[in-house]
Parts: sequence; C-alpha cells; structure tokens
Amino acid sequence: MCSFKGWWDNPLPQTRVALIAELSSALDDSFGGAAWDRKRVRPDSLDALMRTILSQNTNDENRDRAFDRMRARFPEWSDVMVADEAQLKDAIRVAGLSNTKAPNLQAFLRWLKRERGDLNLDFLRDLSNQTAVSLLTEHRGIGIKTAYIVLAFAFDRDLCAVDTHVHRILRRVGVVSARCSREKAHTELAPLIPEGQARSLHINLVEFGKTVCTARNPSCDACPVSRLCRYYHESQGKEV
Ligand code: SF4
Repeated sequence: MCSFKGWWDNPLPQTRVALIAELSSALDDSFGGAAWDRKRVRPDSLDALMRTILSQNTNDENRDRAFDRMRARFPEWSDVMVADEAQLKDAIRVAGLSNTKAPNLQAFLRWLKRERGDLNLDFLRDLSNQTAVSLLTEHRGIGIKTAYIVLAFAFDRDLCAVDTHVHRILRRVGVVSARCSREKAHTELAPLIPEGQARSLHINLVEFGKTVCTARNPSCDACPVSRLCRYYHESQGKEV
C-alpha cells in the first residue's frame, strides 16, 4: 500500500498508529480473532494465572497436560498450595522447568492466602491495569506477558501480551526495533493499538506467528501483510 512505502525511514508516532491499525484489520480478516474473542468463555482468573505460569517455555499441549495432571492430583488450589513440592514437580513435569515452576506456583498461592485470606483473584477487577500488572509482576515466575494474558482474558482488559510470536512479528514488520526487548515491546505497542482491538490483535498475531510468520522460514510469499513488512521489503531487495 503506497501510504506505507518506506514508512520505517520516518517512523512517526502517527505512522506507527496507522500501521498497527492496518495490520490489525488485515490479520483479523485472515484469522478472525475478534469474532473468536467475542465468543470465548472467560476462564477463572486463578486458573488462568496458574495455566499461564505453566505455559512458559513449553507448547500449549504440554501446558494443558501439566495443568490437568496437577488438578487431577491436587483438585483444589489449597491442595496445590500445601502439596509436597516433589509431588507437585512430578505432576507438572511434562511442562518443563518444574524445579522453578512448582515453587513459584506455591509461593504465589501462599502469598494470596496470606494477603487476601482467600485463593481468589477477583480483587484485581477493582485495580487499574498498571496497578494490577505491578502487583502481579512482583512475584517470581510472573512477568509482564503473564500478567497481560491474565488481565486480558480473565478480566476482559484491552491488553496485547507480547509473547515470542508477537515479539518476532513486531520486530520483523518494524513496529519496534530489532533490539527492543519483549518487556519493552509491551509499552511501545500499547499506545499504538486502536481502542478495543488489543486482545484480538494478540490472538491474530499468535496464530499468524504459528502458521505464516514462523520463526524459521516465514511464508512471506503467502503473507497477507507483506506490503507492510520491513523484513519482506529488505529481504526482497525491493525499492520501497
Ligand atoms: S512478510 Fe514475511 S516476515 Fe513479514 S510479516 Fe509476513 S511472513 Fe512475516
């Protein structure tokens, strides 16, 4: 599209806002994240947090297997909280990093019980995004991506978590610099997203990253947003 030719040579804030709007719209046409988001069933917030901690450095299948095994062995969160650590590690082993994930899960549950008297995250509903993210990320094993996912999908907040797929795509397209960390990308991206589209953008980018803009050998020739992409134009050696 002509209006984005060589946009990265002059990445004014308003140009980046227009680019993200275009990217969001084009990906939604291809992946339907907004429709999926409208129909999704909102998860329990503590379930969502525990599942997201388990998801770190593994795939969705192993995350879900670990979660299901843990809940089969320890049906209540209070059971997980007081479980023998070795048994908990064994239950979640399939998700990897069980030596750190098990103590992190238990430490958070103990903190929640101590601070709130109840194993329930409903109190986050009354907090601003910034306060809720700060509170959650004080805990080991909970980074900004995990906090954003829980707030977006369990509390319907308008937030786009930057996971490994989203980070890779943002850098390839040129929305953030190649050296921008995943953590910093959250704050750079947030003000660029059209209101109400952050969750669907996240859903669409993750699906796009799994199927088209993959880590190795991205399918640039079949890409619905190649016209917007810095990597594409540079790798093609095209005049932009
Ligand atoms: S053109 Fe290639 S690198 Fe750029 S967004 Fe599309 S698949 Fe990814």
